[in-house]
Amino acid sequence: MAPSPTSSCDLAFDREHIWHPYTSAVNPLPVYPVRSARGCRIILEDGRELIDGMASWWCAIHGYNHPRLNQAVQEQLRNMAHVMFGGLTHRPAVELARRLTAMTPTPLQHVFFADSGSVSVEAALKMALQYWCALDHPERKRFLTIRNGYHGDTFGAMSVCDPVTGMHTLFQGFLPEQIFSEAPRCAFDALWDEAYIQDFADRLEEHSQELAAVILEPVVQGAGGMRIYSPHFLRRVRELCDEAGVLLICDEIATGFGRTGKLFACEWAGISPDILCVGKALTGGYMTLAATLTTREVAHAISRNDGVFMHGPTFMANPLACAAANASLEILEEGAWRSATPRIEAALREGFSACADLPGVAEVRALGAIGVIELRTPVDVARIQAMFVERGVWVRPFGRLVYVMPPYVVSPDELDKLVSAVVDVVRRLP
Ligand code: PMP
Repeated sequence: MAPSPTSSCDLAFDREHIWHPYTSAVNPLPVYPVRSARGCRIILEDGRELIDGMASWWCAIHGYNHPRLNQAVQEQLRNMAHVMFGGLTHRPAVELARRLTAMTPTPLQHVFFADSGSVSVEAALKMALQYWCALDHPERKRFLTIRNGYHGDTFGAMSVCDPVTGMHTLFQGFLPEQIFSEAPRCAFDALWDEAYIQDFADRLEEHSQELAAVILEPVVQGAGGMRIYSPHFLRRVRELCDEAGVLLICDEIATGFGRTGKLFACEWAGISPDILCVGKALTGGYMTLAATLTTREVAHAISRNDGVFMHGPTFMANPLACAAANASLEILEEGAWRSATPRIEAALREGFSACADLPGVAEVRALGAIGVIELRTPVDVARIQAMFVERGVWVRPFGRLVYVMPPYVVSPDELDKLVSAVVDVVRRLP
């Protein structure tokens, strides 16, 4: 029998039957039912309005329920929601590929549409492996990355996540074993010292003959620790990869589309990767869509001797998602984010500095529309979450990190309330 429709969200059913991210089936963390979302506000079923500090995990850069994104999806819906991408193509995908190749570094000219960030990372790893196979180097099948990284929850992606905070122990014996160098120690503005790159350079030299590629998140490491590091590190990584003849994959799934104050974080270092992953904000947070871009050199090598790239998800280049992405990128191209992100950075930096000297706070940092308060001990998520909701804001900390990355459309007043609530909550932590 079909369940009877209820006018409100059935929390008991949710608790009994639905897995939320990284939770127990029997003792899950509380969840808050949402009725709607608009601009920078999330409206709960009980009518409470929360100022959104998370942009739904980096995605909703233009805010929720955006008229232009709504219109783009509605118009596309009149034509078709989806068609297979094998043997067929469509205007939204072609237009999106044209935009992506125009806005990312020039050498990246070939686009693979994936259905999530993790899948785009799988595609990136696969491209690197297929590239070396095509060049008669099948022995190059390992990846080098930096500690504290996060690249997704599928197996290839997990294998290059931080070996301690990632899920390596749980899946040991099944996960491919990759090579890790120390996490970048140099802060964003720190004076450069070659010692900072030594460990990476050593690992690269030691394993260069078996490496397919280096993979990392440029300048900001997200879910692996919300760490912000010197663009000089990235520049040296690019140089060392070139010298060693190893491909470089940049995962801009979190950092891309303006979040760090540049359109792509690679721009801080003036570098271009051989393979680039984008996702999250690509559709302005409307639908799941990601893309893996690569150079002509990689794409053509894979295609030598009738070679094909061996990936093709069912929902590849979903037209609704591509339409949302085209509208989202059009808004970005108009450029309002360029003045919004420095304004947000200044407010976060200044506001959060009030916490810097608290005994429980290890460090406070900000870049672009990202602000982080790193605590000395992990938070009680359920408790701190309730404290934020009581203050009318939506912030979801993890581990020792209280962090925000609001939609770029957050107003000065909303930002002020968000920052004050965060500072007030952090001050009250035990
Ligand atoms: N790479 C990075 C840098 C990410 O932040 C994420 C998502 N948090 C992913 C990959 C995985 O993306 P998805 O959750 O869409 O699979």
